[in-house]
Amino acid sequence: MENIAPPKYVRQVLRSLQARGHVAYLVGGCVRDMALGVRPHDWDICTGALPEQVMEVFPGALPTGLKHGTVTVRINSRSVEVTTFRSEENYADHRHPETVRFVGELTTDLSRRDFTINAMALSPDGLIMDPFGGLTDLEHRCIRCVGSPELRFEEDALRMFRALRFSARLDFTIEEATLAAIGKKAHLASALAAERIRDEVEKTLLTPRPETVGLMQHLGLLDVFLCARADALPELKLLTKLPRKALDRWMALCVILRRRGLISSVEDFLTALRLDSRTIRCCTDGAALLEGRKPRGAPEWKRLLRRWGVDTVSCAARCRDALDGGSSSRELKSVLKSGECFSMKHLAVSGDDLTALGLKGRELGEMLNFLLDYVIEYPENNRRELLLSLAGNTEEL
Ligand code: ATP
Ligand code: MG
Repeated sequence: MENIAPPKYVRQVLRSLQARGHVAYLVGGCVRDMALGVRPHDWDICTGALPEQVMEVFPGALPTGLKHGTVTVRINSRSVEVTTFRSEENYADHRHPETVRFVGELTTDLSRRDFTINAMALSPDGLIMDPFGGLTDLEHRCIRCVGSPELRFEEDALRMFRALRFSARLDFTIEEATLAAIGKKAHLASALAAERIRDEVEKTLLTPRPETVGLMQHLGLLDVFLCARADALPELKLLTKLPRKALDRWMALCVILRRRGLISSVEDFLTALRLDSRTIRCCTDGAALLEGRKPRGAPEWKRLLRRWGVDTVSCAARCRDALDGGSSSRELKSVLKSGECFSMKHLAVSGDDLTALGLKGRELGEMLNFLLDYVIEYPENNRRELLLSLAGNTEEL
């Protein structure tokens, strides 16, 4: 905590609230990260001031979530969220609280938070407020619910994913009762919006422990999206060999799930999880490509590039190396570096050239394809005169 100080603009927001007689603390993720010696990526403040009072202190501040008591204060193009102490009650459908009540007390606010390590606050003069033993759990590298895990997961089923995500990101274990409650309450995940599950899965895939997604699956959190349940999929560890890019990690996950027979269609799986259309297309094509054997020689690589495009083939090559070993990426790179033609765009003749030779319609398309097939085999012959004569000659036959 001593090593990392909040930036000046955050300290000033805290000070301004205090100067107007309101208690205010740093809270949640930033306090956890500071205690871990990691620089927080955002700074949240909680306060006893009501949202209207926060806006009085900072005229012009944006009421970004008034219902939840959140006001965003912008200073020097940086934002700080200032949220009134609140309690949450009557969770509907294991997702959202129906009632949010502003309360005067910090401990009540901390008690609505998910895990002990996320339920600490830091006063402007450096005093840590830790009513649920978050610091001890940080020391023991442990994720533990605030209060009864079963009740907390019944209130909000997303917390089960968050527990696994934080354990993967921080390399923490999940406390026994918390883990047991996930097993017991996993079915409540079916009440969640697919987008929220997608975001948690993606964030987990990008952590140093992507195999935690296998545990999500094993515990039943992904039942809605899979045809069966399997053991914890330890092979997902191999994803750490891939760059920390969402596309690469989704593709490798899909390939592993297909190989395990846990999904029947990559496209259906990703569509149900509301992935964007580019990711769905790339992963569907990449997984299909990986079902075939490894390409041998430059012409085979070029045929794949022609059919699936550079992004998909490159990503599939990285996945093949990570999952099955080998040097596909290196081979592909040398093909790409050679500058040899594999697409119509780089063919030395165009449709217009063939039209000038009197070709049209289907015949013209077939000729272009023939010429491209030809230069994929004989890259040194991607020359205009030679191809025009080939096209002319064929027409005369
Ligand atoms: P990150 O570094 O991933 O942003 P974070 O702890 O800041 O981690 P956020 O999702 O930004 O996580 O949430 C901020 C804080 O709000 C958390 O630290 C936690 O105290 C509380 N919180 C967020 N989501 C929930 C939830 N579903 N249930 C209870 N408390 C939550
Ligand atoms: Mg945060």
